[in-house]
Amino acid sequence: MDAAEFRRCGKQLIDFIADYIESLNGNRREAMPRVLPGYLRQRLPLRPPDQPETWERVMSDVEEHILSGTAHWLHPDFNAYFPIGISYASVLGDLLSSSFGVGFTWRSNPALTELERLMLDWLAEMMGMPAHFRNDSGIGGGALQGSASDCVLVSMLAARKEKLTQLIGKDAEPLPVSRLVAYCSQLAHPCVDKAAVICGVRLRRLGYDDENLALRCDLLESAVLEDRQLGLVPFYVCAVLGTTACASCDNLSDVGAVCHREQLWCHVDAAYSGGALVCPEFRPLLQGIELVDSFNFNPSKWLLCTFDASVLWVKSQSKLKDAFVSGPRASIPVDDAPISNPLEQICDLKDWGIPLSRRFRSLKLWFVIRLYGVEGLQRHIRLHCRLAQSFESQLLKDGRFQLAAKTRFSLVCFRFRDSDALSRLLVCRINQSRDLHLMPASVRDRYIIRYAIVRERAVEADVNRAIRVILKHADQLDGKFSN
Ligand code: PLP
Repeated sequence: MDAAEFRRCGKQLIDFIADYIESLNGNRREAMPRVLPGYLRQRLPLRPPDQPETWERVMSDVEEHILSGTAHWLHPDFNAYFPIGISYASVLGDLLSSSFGVGFTWRSNPALTELERLMLDWLAEMMGMPAHFRNDSGIGGGALQGSASDCVLVSMLAARKEKLTQLIGKDAEPLPVSRLVAYCSQLAHPCVDKAAVICGVRLRRLGYDDENLALRCDLLESAVLEDRQLGLVPFYVCAVLGTTACASCDNLSDVGAVCHREQLWCHVDAAYSGGALVCPEFRPLLQGIELVDSFNFNPSKWLLCTFDASVLWVKSQSKLKDAFVSGPRASIPVDDAPISNPLEQICDLKDWGIPLSRRFRSLKLWFVIRLYGVEGLQRHIRLHCRLAQSFESQLLKDGRFQLAAKTRFSLVCFRFRDSDALSRLLVCRINQSRDLHLMPASVRDRYIIRYAIVRERAVEADVNRAIRVILKHADQLDGKFSN
């Protein structure tokens, strides 16, 4: 493809993207595809083409075979999971980033390195984070990772390295990593289990309190004691702000105090809810943040940035880098002369996580923050929260529904007739009808129905329609079971 062809196809592609997104806003498609596993192999050639094909043929296959198998997260009837950060500004930022090279050291891409560090400082300021999380503090700082799961893993690797280093010299034998223990609530995301498996450490999931569904710190303290008595080494706690099941929040002051006393690394996973902190009214959740060693959140969920973009901040950059700095190897070209600049410490982002190379992800953050402004992003978060409140109050007017958890942020969790079986049946019926797409969860061993505000341009009419759909299916179930 030459430049002239790129211009022609690129302009078409921009139109295609806009038409696609507007077709969802206009509700001209179904939210979920009607395909079965393996559908694509039955439709596309199993072998790559020997000869070049035309752009037109490729795009016609996108329309026919890709769109027809895509779940449309921006569809008004898609209310599963969590918000998706797709915005036009962010798509453009991502497009631009694809045309630049990657970066790993400062010299390999100064703009990539410096914009990423500056954007994380902008976000830290926008969200009321402590000064030590800022890159310009020289103490801690932040870098983008691919996903929240990556952030949790990276923080656990750093904590593991710190604990193993502390213990070197205390014992004649190096400590087997399998004696290390991490902790989290039963409501923490499964990515914590995955991180523990990769790190080769144990993970204990602990109970949560009935009222706030927050990790019980009395259980945390006794688990730490018990494990020490067994000769194990507690080292890491993952607290959550905004659990996946029901958006509940652990208490950072309480968890942080235990971690501080027991010398455990305190990590906070705020993958979804972190975006809400751009609004000062949510910042009471940050009480205790000074006790936190690392914090992650996904602008790709609620801050209008397309996947992937996950922020990881650490209180001590040296502790993070200790886990990841690797010396030069003869087979890998390294930057030659060291560069010194009194204004900016040289930073090689390869030392802030697992991969060597990284995409220019901060461009989409920069585009979004500039094109919306902080106030635009605050309006977005508040709109979603208002719509969730409106959904809650309309739903509760019908006495058959109960909240399964307090409505937090833009997520409403409820049950139908306080029954697992009927709630499950209701979700099945609704999803099968394709009137809405909902995703259930389990809290306190009960089946709960989640209604999430997902798309940027959600409006009151979406909520009103969702309520009508839910009540229609509830009436049908009632009719069926009363006959
Ligand atoms: N943590 C929480 C609280 C989540 O809700 C999710 C996903 O929804 C994750 C972690 C995993 O996120 P990612 O897909 O970015 O790895």
